[in-house]
Amino acid sequence: MVSMASSLTFQPVLERIAEDMERRPGRGRAADYIPALAAFDARRFGMAVAELDGTVYGVGEWRQPFSAQSITKVFTLALGLAREGDELWEHVGREPSGNPFNSLVQLEYENGIPRNPFINAGALVVTDRLHTRTGHAADTLLDFLRAESGNPDLTFDQGVADSETAHGDRNAALAHFMASYGNVDNPVPVLLDQYFRQCSIEASCADLALATGFLARHGVRADGTRLLTRSQAKQINAAMLTCGTYDAAGDFAHRVGLPGKSGVGGGIIAVVPGRCTLCVWSPGLDERGNSVAGVAALDLFTTLTGLSVF
Ligand code: GLU
Repeated sequence: MVSMASSLTFQPVLERIAEDMERRPGRGRAADYIPALAAFDARRFGMAVAELDGTVYGVGEWRQPFSAQSITKVFTLALGLAREGDELWEHVGREPSGNPFNSLVQLEYENGIPRNPFINAGALVVTDRLHTRTGHAADTLLDFLRAESGNPDLTFDQGVADSETAHGDRNAALAHFMASYGNVDNPVPVLLDQYFRQCSIEASCADLALATGFLARHGVRADGTRLLTRSQAKQINAAMLTCGTYDAAGDFAHRVGLPGKSGVGGGIIAVVPGRCTLCVWSPGLDERGNSVAGVAALDLFTTLTGLSVF
């Protein structure tokens, strides 16, 4: 185990992880159900660690922007919870679904209330409610990410958003279905536009590690103001641990032992509460939708440093 007495020791750990990843053969396949994501080479790799004070360490392509996709669901949940409080949990649950992220089946049995905020149905509800409260969910999210990362250049990738809109039948079905139960406020096309923009945000490992910092600071933003109560920050970390990595959250907790959230763009964010945040990117996905090298790198990080919640 590497001593973490000094923050400077993160850089050698990251370099060791990158060397290890370089030697590994299989890397999965980039997501192809969103055509704009399919072109990425599965072997690309970057990783960043951000300390609570905003110091960032990185290796590989840690400054390369990629499609954040479902990682954004963590931030919309935080922004929604900050505005709405506990009432949000009456419209979306907090149990693992045991089904694929875009599944429709459970929704009918459970009267249009999605199992958790990280499956697509749950994220659609969160975005819908945030949109009602802010007038523009996706812009609210982008402003937040720019502020927390300190990167004013973060933006939407309109090509990815258009590609998702063109292939968005399943998300449209989820939204219409929940609307039939009264669990969507805005017109479905408006909601889908907000949701696809949200998913299309491009950010780097450095940006996303920094933007996740409020979860390691128990709800406090980069500028020292409070976004969430300590209890709400705990709720989000708990949802990430139990539901954040598709239908493989048990395996992720077993291997990595940290709250984490993945996206089909190949990114994964993770939180060491009270200590640091991480983001890793490698576009090759396993059959559950998690980055193969991303999970392996986080696994190695917690093994080498002993920094896990367990
Ligand atoms: N925009 C993607 C979708 O809704 C997000 C999927 C993901 O990253 O899990 O299908």
